Amino acid sequence: MEPKNKAIPSPETPQQVLKRYWGFDSFRPLQEEVIGEIMQGRDVLVLMPTGGGKSLIYQVPTLAREGLTIVITPLIALMKDQVDRLRAKGIGAVAIHAGLSPRQIDIALDNCAYDPHMRFLYMAPERVPSESLRLRLHKMNVRLIAVDEAHCISQWGYDFRPAYRHIAELRERCPEASMVALTASATSTVANDIMENLRFDEKRIFRGDFSRPNLSYAVRHVEDKNGQLLRLIRNVEGSGTVYVRTREATEEIAEMLRGEGITAAAYHGGLPHTERALRQEEWMSGKARVMVATNAFGMGIDKPDVRFVVHYTMCDSLESYYQEAGRAGRDGKRSYALLMVGPDDAERVRKRFLAEFPPLDKVKEIYEKIGSYLQIPIGEGELGSYSFNIHDFCAREHLYHGMVRAAADLLEQNGYLTLTDEMENPARIIFCVSRDDLYRIRCERDELDPFIRTILRLYNGVFTEFRKIDELEIAHWSGYTVERVKELLKRLWQLRIIRYVPSNRSPLIYYPTERLPKADLYISPETYKIRKELASERFEQMLHYTNASTECRSALMERYFGVEEPRHCGVCDYCLEEKRARKRAPKRVEERILELLHEGPLTIRETIQKSKCSPEQGSEAIDRLLDERKIRQGDDGKIFLR
Ligand code: ADP
Ligand code: MG
Repeated sequence: MEPKNKAIPSPETPQQVLKRYWGFDSFRPLQEEVIGEIMQGRDVLVLMPTGGGKSLIYQVPTLAREGLTIVITPLIALMKDQVDRLRAKGIGAVAIHAGLSPRQIDIALDNCAYDPHMRFLYMAPERVPSESLRLRLHKMNVRLIAVDEAHCISQWGYDFRPAYRHIAELRERCPEASMVALTASATSTVANDIMENLRFDEKRIFRGDFSRPNLSYAVRHVEDKNGQLLRLIRNVEGSGTVYVRTREATEEIAEMLRGEGITAAAYHGGLPHTERALRQEEWMSGKARVMVATNAFGMGIDKPDVRFVVHYTMCDSLESYYQEAGRAGRDGKRSYALLMVGPDDAERVRKRFLAEFPPLDKVKEIYEKIGSYLQIPIGEGELGSYSFNIHDFCAREHLYHGMVRAAADLLEQNGYLTLTDEMENPARIIFCVSRDDLYRIRCERDELDPFIRTILRLYNGVFTEFRKIDELEIAHWSGYTVERVKELLKRLWQLRIIRYVPSNRSPLIYYPTERLPKADLYISPETYKIRKELASERFEQMLHYTNASTECRSALMERYFGVEEPRHCGVCDYCLEEKRARKRAPKRVEERILELLHEGPLTIRETIQKSKCSPEQGSEAIDRLLDERKIRQGDDGKIFLR
């Protein structure tokens, strides 16, 4: 089959594409520069915070020329969301992931090979080595390979996924394509690892701005967390989010706030879909001022005027903290990110970390239990994906949720299974009228006829058994929006024409190989050690953030994200205290420095360290002393008393 020659819009500049499809007038910092590099066919690595606008970096150049872009991302929910958005703009896009049948995947891939209107192919990394892709790649006009969440490539990254290591193999099969790797966080080790692994022609890094000048970070060590929380909510106008650890705590604290006359809603992953949507809407509209939630809340929610984000308990990494706290103040107005720490929180969290990091035997046991829970016989299950209700599993097996996740992580790293993020499971329907009755209904109700016809064409057998349906697919073929499709399905249900089980959410488990007997599992001690060390290191960094009293909080965080010389924000609790102290006693640091130099010459770094002040304070004081000629600097760089 030759590519169809439908009219393709003539190429536009990136600027025009941005305006035409997104309605935006200008690029954000870095976007335009990187897009320029991509248009030149160069490989680039982009480090930019979440919400910085990474998607446009590969979407715009794709639309400004011909050809297909392959986007690799591990998050199914995000993949679907992106595809929906592109389609809503009339741009051809598909996603292939563990939630689809092999037939659906083949159809999607054929479309990418033969339809020049297909511009984006999203896929999960474990699909890269698949035979069905391999067979069709040479027919696709792939110009760009975008690797989202690129830190997953590196085993030094916090979310290493071995499947990412296969991405580089696409190079041979798509010789025309350049690569863009994108991530919200990468130390320089990870950044180098990414570029080497993806075989960049040359190292090119673009680093975005991780500072949030309007966001004031603070940490409070308190015993009475509720009291502290109430003080903040009463002092700051506008709406906010309170993150808590457990599902029960969301309801408890929302209840407490309501008792104090503050409108508050609770949110967690265990609520039914409709209930979650309802509560989210209450908060979005301002009917509920405060949302008390677990970390299931927030991704993909775009509320610009969030004035505060409070963490009732620590996160397990600074990445998560930065991301959750960063949901405050998207509109650029003054906002607050408060982390509350109780007297024995650190100890408790450390203990939990140890309890959750499973010993090797436990990992194997969990593998076995998952297999039995999913009813997969030993020796079977290869390439299968199974809907996995992790909460039900944990309850049944009396296991910690966190431990099961950690075990799944290790199992994934060793190639035994992949636990995906939560995703929508397909809706299912069955017709509960006879074919004759249906024919009559279609004649009587013109408005439903095209819709019913699409369903019948797409899914044969819907008269005899429940069939999985895909609202997106129906939308695609019927020309309705997804929302309209859902409405129409509900309508048919109310009219008792069909029975309809709407989609629900749970993670999937994907088996790249058959289920093995426990004795055959091999978890490399090396990966085990690295994972444990990295997890513990990340947690220690979080602890460091809560305890640090010698650096601006924002600068500390930026440094963690690889910014080499971050500036002080001037608005966090440290900077504010610093300002106050400076007003109180500008002389004190200088006196201390003079005292220190009494003992003998010191380098500037030593002086600052020993005088126990901030680098900024210290260097200002040294400058003043030099100006006033109270001290001098020698040729060796050391300073000494005159
Ligand atoms: P990331 O992937 O970096 O987390 P996204 O690509 O999801 O961020 O973009 C975050 C938001 O920023 C989106 O709502 C997007 O439409 C918006 N955005 C991106 N670029 C621009 C721009 N140039 N002008 C206005 N809004 C933009
Ligand atoms: Mg993104």
